[in-house]
Amino acid sequence: TTAEDWARSDHYHNSFLHTKDEILDAALKNSTANGLPEIAVSAAQGKFLNLLVSSIGAKRILEVGTLGGYSTIWLARALPNDGELITLELIEKHAKVAQENIDKANLTNKVKIIVGPAHESMQQLHPETPFDFIFIDADKKGNLDYFTEAKRLVRKGGVIIVDNVVRYGRVADPEYTDTNVEGVRRLLKGLKGDTDVEATTIGTVGDKGYDGYLYAVRK
Ligand code: SAM
Repeated sequence: TTAEDWARSDHYHNSFLHTKDEILDAALKNSTANGLPEIAVSAAQGKFLNLLVSSIGAKRILEVGTLGGYSTIWLARALPNDGELITLELIEKHAKVAQENIDKANLTNKVKIIVGPAHESMQQLHPETPFDFIFIDADKKGNLDYFTEAKRLVRKGGVIIVDNVVRYGRVADPEYTDTNVEGVRRLLKGLKGDTDVEATTIGTVGDKGYDGYLYAVRK
């Protein structure tokens, strides 16, 4: 089975389960036009995040790694009227494009972008009400640091998702030692014996290749 077969599979399923979405299409188009890398979650993954947020009735979401705000829009759309999402992004340009996309999606009032290194931004957060849902999708070498802060910031029973933890199976293949793979390994080593959460990895395949989410629930 080739990458094209898996992309076709994704599009086939989406053709039954997703409706045409001009706002999300425009967000991707605007991101590409501004030179942002095409590394947003897939439509199926974005909708999955959206449904997870709805399932737990999340009102407060933290996202680590905004890029052009594509996953931000999927997540924020699942919030109730009084819900809010804070998203953390290092690069000013990405944040600017994301703000445009978020404004066009009519989510300006629910979403706040904080520009800067995510670990520092997280350390500066001391919310009165903890987050219900945290999505970690920034530089992979920071995964364990982000996860550690996420545990502090999420409520008991809240959900932490970390993206890209399978990486075509390379995380489990000793031949690979790049920083992304090592960042996921460091997270997994940190999670071994961690009694603060229960977690599992869900592998995914589709038009973004073979990858997976780490899904954790705070105890
Ligand atoms: N979540 C986005 C989506 O699916 O639409 C994709 C995020 S992209 C994979 C990762 C983003 O994290 C990039 O925009 C990158 O600039 C940002 N990033 C990298 N290092 C960071 C850091 N130290 N702090 C905050 N953001 C960072």
